[in-house]
Amino acid sequence: MGNVYLVGAGPGDPELLTLRAAEVLRQADVVYYDYLVNPLVLRHVAATAETICLGSHGEGRILAQTEINALVICAAQSGKTVVRLKGGDPSVFGRAAQEIAALEAAGIAYEVVPGITAALAASSHAGILLTHRQQASSVAFVTGQESSDKEGAALDLANLARFPGTLVFYMGVTTAPRWASELIAHGKPAETPVAIVRHCSLPAQRTVQTTLGELPEVLAPGKLRPPAIIIVGSVVAARSHITWFTSRPLFGQRVLVTRPAHQNTTMVERLTRSGAAVELQAAIEITSAPDQAPLDRAINNLASYDWLVFSSANGVAYFLARLRELGGDLRWLGSCRLAAIGPATTAALERCFLRVDLQPDEYRAEALAAQLVSRAAGKRVLILRASRGREVLAETLAEAGIDVEQVVAYQSRDIDQADPDIAAAMAAGDIDWVTVSSSAIARSLARMFGEELKQARLAAISPLTARVLAEAGFSAAAVAQEYTSEGLVEAMIKSATSS
Ligand code: SAH
Repeated sequence: MGNVYLVGAGPGDPELLTLRAAEVLRQADVVYYDYLVNPLVLRHVAATAETICLGSHGEGRILAQTEINALVICAAQSGKTVVRLKGGDPSVFGRAAQEIAALEAAGIAYEVVPGITAALAASSHAGILLTHRQQASSVAFVTGQESSDKEGAALDLANLARFPGTLVFYMGVTTAPRWASELIAHGKPAETPVAIVRHCSLPAQRTVQTTLGELPEVLAPGKLRPPAIIIVGSVVAARSHITWFTSRPLFGQRVLVTRPAHQNTTMVERLTRSGAAVELQAAIEITSAPDQAPLDRAINNLASYDWLVFSSANGVAYFLARLRELGGDLRWLGSCRLAAIGPATTAALERCFLRVDLQPDEYRAEALAAQLVSRAAGKRVLILRASRGREVLAETLAEAGIDVEQVVAYQSRDIDQADPDIAAAMAAGDIDWVTVSSSAIARSLARMFGEELKQARLAAISPLTARVLAEAGFSAAAVAQEYTSEGLVEAMIKSATSS
């Protein structure tokens, strides 16, 4: 029999996950997650595991608790490691009690992994400190949706009105008119400060401050939708209006990252740390070359070259992977000198303990060619390149009389169609920025989105990429000064903070 882990996914920010949660997600065979869970948390899950969303707001049917229990138990009984992933902490209004009871009744081993509950994230991310030496010595978590079949006392608003501390209402948006007026009727002053924090710890986080008396008006139908927590008490008046979280330079900006998934980590991390809401839509796909024979021939004759030239980190990865497949290892490189077009390519070589002999000061083919012309005169040069790309490097070397050969180390192909949700967001003008990190990506994006790409601001990784965009009829709103992922994000921040 498998194991079940009842895991808290935290309030929204995927980095607010415990180490234990990340660990069990890696081990899971199947993950059942609630609609409140940020899907970005699922990046810890193995590619072979199943991930299943249980119900969402307005979409599909929300499963009954007994159906969820049955699914989890059935998966565990078939020997799978099951993660039941819930927003925030599983035991704070998360129905953990019912799920645990069902597991115990079925005799299934389980572990509970706590998570950061929404109220705590409001404290850290929205600047409303729930306790305060002078103002609040206690805090109560209250549900706005009480189950009607609860035994014993129902939500005692008379007592809560006298509670000497901060009240935090979960699931209280739609029921606010009722509980707010009852609190007032039981003596809580109508001018008690109230904050509504929506999408806490996410780039869409928004805080609205009001008073208990005005709360029903502020939450009138359609004005502010869940998920939000509502904090009632004097600590709200002491809140910081701008927090470390909301003052990050790209806070709230929706940014489309268009590099292939295996290559976007650095960029996604930088953007996320700067406060952006990152959306992913690869514009190109990288695979091995359809015809490996030329690459194999070159690898089997490495001793005949003096220089190996890499024009991307992909080139390094596919070249070395193939070398290994052919039975080789680093010793096959012998005395070859190594050139890399820029820091990401250099880093890919350095990770394999290969020192780079030449990296140009400016990360573009022209600069690399110019420096190689003097360094490689009279030598044999092998360029490991993409199935498409610029000819300027090989041409310049050949014109200078250098014996140069190019082989395709990997294939780069356009992705034809955007994900429908991304396409709709682009059409609606909901994407603030699109990162354009190569010429191939620029051309692919122009085809993928057509004129709608103009709805977003485009950030180009280099003047060359900006030129390719311009040729397709699009202008770049930001151009990186250093032609790297970091440089690209820097340029976006500069543009966002100066406008
Ligand atoms: N177990 C969860 C709560 C589940 S009840 C936890 O510990 O946080 C669902 C309610 O949680 C929502 O209606 C909302 O009131 C609150 N909530 C969850 N995530 C939130 C977020 N990121 N921002 C604001 N409120 C949130």
